[in-house]
Amino acid sequence: MPLSQQTKDVACRLLTMSAAWNGTLTHVATDEPVVALTFDDGPHPEVTPRLLEILRRHDAHATFFMVGKAAQNHPELVEEVAEAGHAIGNHSWDHPSLPLLRPRAVRAQIRWCREALGGHDCGLFRPPYGDQTPATQWAAVRQGYRVVAWSAVADDWLDHPAEVLLAKLRPALRPGAIVLLHDALYTTVDRRYNDRGATLEAVEQLLSETRQKLSFITVPELLARGRARKQHWYRRGDLEWQRRLL
Ligand SMILES: [Zn+2]
Repeated sequence: MPLSQQTKDVACRLLTMSAAWNGTLTHVATDEPVVALTFDDGPHPEVTPRLLEILRRHDAHATFFMVGKAAQNHPELVEEVAEAGHAIGNHSWDHPSLPLLRPRAVRAQIRWCREALGGHDCGLFRPPYGDQTPATQWAAVRQGYRVVAWSAVADDWLDHPAEVLLAKLRPALRPGAIVLLHDALYTTVDRRYNDRGATLEAVEQLLSETRQKLSFITVPELLARGRARKQHWYRRGDLEWQRRLL
């Protein structure tokens, strides 16, 4: 029997209220000098090991929001990231803008990535491009995830040199910040942007110059150090942008 419009309206309202109540994590309120770096779209066979080496040398830990398909292709990297003490989160199966998909496909994107991550999934989900509606958020929450956005970006999906990335990152490194970076680009508007050299250089420099002042920890560790700050984070996604992606 088809649902009445009134039932649909009530269901839609409940869904929205529920998703809003859960909110989307953007940062943590804390006085401690701790920051969470996050790296999306990997793992990448060349870049991720180089990044792991930089983090190891600086005794820093990070959170990797992995794309399921890439994780399935490189299970050894998933293991390596986990063994080094980093956290691993779900970034969908193959990086679509979830609001553009049908509900069943959204659920599958989240589930397939979780399966690819095996037991290393720390229960955090980051929607590709940060695109989210209450319905896609609820799909993640229903599968047991906490949705994580960010408080700082460096636009490292473009081809800025390291100095430009650093100029954006330095003022954003406040206690409790969650920083969005990429150890791979699953999609891009220009293949030249796939070069992660500037991001690696910026991370190396950032960790060196903040050695005495800040500790870099995973998002789950950050959550244990303060109070989660959440936002109503909804973006429908830019169809025009999606069409330009390779
Ligand atoms: Zn991404």
